[in-house]
Amino acid sequence: MRQPLVIGNWKMNGSLSLTSELLSKIDKAIDDKIACDIGVCVPFVYIDRANELVKKSAIKVGAQTVSEYSSGAYTGEISAQMLAELGCHWVLVGHSERRTLFNESNAVLIDKVLAAQGADLLPVYCVGETEADYKSGLTVDVIKDQIGALLSDPSIDLNRLVIAYEPVWAIGTGLTASPEEAQKVHAFIRSLIREKNAESAKQLKILYGGSVKPDNASLLFKQQDIDGGLIGGASLDADAFISICQKA
Ligand code: PEP
Repeated sequence: MRQPLVIGNWKMNGSLSLTSELLSKIDKAIDDKIACDIGVCVPFVYIDRANELVKKSAIKVGAQTVSEYSSGAYTGEISAQMLAELGCHWVLVGHSERRTLFNESNAVLIDKVLAAQGADLLPVYCVGETEADYKSGLTVDVIKDQIGALLSDPSIDLNRLVIAYEPVWAIGTGLTASPEEAQKVHAFIRSLIREKNAESAKQLKILYGGSVKPDNASLLFKQQDIDGGLIGGASLDADAFISICQKA
């Protein structure tokens, strides 16, 4: 049985005061009705404050990207070791905004997964097809390519990562894949992992992301291979995020 997981992705939003406000509200709401693991991936500059705030709570803090390099002349970059030192638990790798706006290729993303695992962070490797891919019926090919990159590197530990399936056309658009459609892709991802390692496939958490809201979360989370959600917009609203966690 995989414990459900809900991770909020704040993107480049928030402030120090919003960090305190959101995290204290979420922390207060965690009770017996919430039986899922909870994470928040906040902007780098709020990680320290966020960790201070959740010290006594079950919420685990993460970052939204990481450098593939370990140290050196890489102005502006943040290494996995630095994130670990700040107490990060997770790091998103390959969010579609990183793939498209910052041209992060599969090859670079695999180096980021390795860097994260090397520092004992749990990478949340994001995959998903664009609207054009979806309309051309290329979803399976895109997923095969993105997951294939992960599987082609034998140094990656398949027991120490989370995968998030986020159809790009559903991110921030109010559109979601239907629960059945999402389940099919999640099952496909798990089958690809199973070909490499059956045990890893069994315990692997695969999150769904793309306009998850309190009113569509239940049906998505009921699907056999959907183990929780990666939540963008709704994670900036404490009540909505708490309600999604309750549904998980
Ligand atoms: C995301 O940014 O990962 C995301 C899923 O965003 P939203 O929930 O707003 O679609």
